[in-house]
Amino acid sequence: MSGWIEVVAGSMYSGKTEELIRRVKRAQYAKLNVQVFKPIIDSRYHATNVTSHNQNQVSATPLVSIHDVWDHLLDTTKVVAFDEGQFFTMDLVQVCRDLAARGLRVIVSGLDMDWKGQPFEPIPTLMAIAEDVTKHRAICTKCGELATYTQKIGGSTEAQVEVGSQNFYEARCRVHFKPEVEQLSVQFQAQAELR
Ligand code: ADP
Ligand code: MG
Repeated sequence: MSGWIEVVAGSMYSGKTEELIRRVKRAQYAKLNVQVFKPIIDSRYHATNVTSHNQNQVSATPLVSIHDVWDHLLDTTKVVAFDEGQFFTMDLVQVCRDLAARGLRVIVSGLDMDWKGQPFEPIPTLMAIAEDVTKHRAICTKCGELATYTQKIGGSTEAQVEVGSQNFYEARCRVHFKPEVEQLSVQFQAQAELR
């Protein structure tokens, strides 16, 4: 059987993890052996589960490095899923190719853009080489339209990677997204009003 790569991309809160969990559970109904992995950096809800923002979950093995996947991979595994793919290095691309070459179905979910609205590797490259790509959209917290961007509303103004949830990020549409930390601009606005 030939393997393949599927990518589930989109902004934060767009339902990427929910979709990954749905695909994993359907594979399990089909009695296929599935292994789920996630980068160890993502421990927002649970260390050894993949959990969506609405608390759906499946168990997962946290990886320090993407290359550790080979130490965990079982001979019987038919489907491999990676959540939060953007937190792995670019080596995720070759690992996915190698897994697919072995005949495995590979599912990767992750952010396709960072909080500056820039492509967030390795997801864009994976989208190019995948057999199947789905782009999910959240709901804009400002206007209720479909949201493709992740607005940063707190924390570091520099780092591309800062793990957080409602405290740091909101889903926004193109009109209401700004490629900057919004909390700062609100502070600047308050200072400006005091002058
Ligand atoms: P992702 O992995 O893409 O960040 P999840 O699959 O973990 O998203 O969570 C999706 C869920 O997040 C939705 O089903 C909904 O319950 C919740 N949610 C919270 N905020 C929003 C929003 N602004 N737009 C859409 N869903 C949201
Ligand atoms: Mg997620």
